[in-house]
Amino acid sequence: MGRVRDYQIDQMETPIMDKCPECDGEGIVYYEVARPQSFTRDVGYLDEVSEVCEKCSGDGEIKRLCDCGDIVTLGMGHDAEECEDCANDR
Ligand SMILES: [Zn+2]
Ligand SMILES: [Zn+2]
Repeated sequence: MGRVRDYQIDQMETPIMDKCPECDGEGIVYYEVARPQSFTRDVGYLDEVSEVCEKCSGDGEIKRLCDCGDIVTLGMGHDAEECEDCANDR
């Protein structure tokens, strides 16, 4: 009995992780910076810079959040988009 129950509680507390839309799951974002070629030429070039993704802190995935701001947990099923509280409200 006990084991099944623990498993269910685990699911209820495990947030669903989604691939970070900001970095496409890479954990790193790339962006281009325009740099001047030199002081005498005004034709610049684009330099690609990479940075750890702020949204996911480099994890490449983020917790799925309900509209209310709570995390959506695995207990609601993999495709759930609302938290337990909101689902129960309806
Ligand atoms: Zn990211
Ligand atoms: Zn909610």
